[in-house]
Amino acid sequence: MAKIVSKCGCEFDNNQAVADRVREKGVENEPMPTPAKIKCVCNQTIEMTTLLYKCPHCQMTYAVTPCSASDHDYIVKAGIDY
Ligand SMILES: [Zn+2]
Repeated sequence: MAKIVSKCGCEFDNNQAVADRVREKGVENEPMPTPAKIKCVCNQTIEMTTLLYKCPHCQMTYAVTPCSASDHDYIVKAGIDY
């Protein structure tokens, strides 16, 4: 299975592990350097403003590590209400 590799080279087994790391570091409420506009799985366009963010419509949880937060390609979906 392909691993998730962050911009700084950290490896994660899956999307959930990215969210876990963000929580471990205690940075889940840190602001995004630039908010990410995301077309969510629920078809709403949302603005991710923190490193860990839940869609207000469907609770899909998005996460990005601090080192990768400036590059929105590194944002992962960790699952609904993860
Ligand atoms: Zn959503």
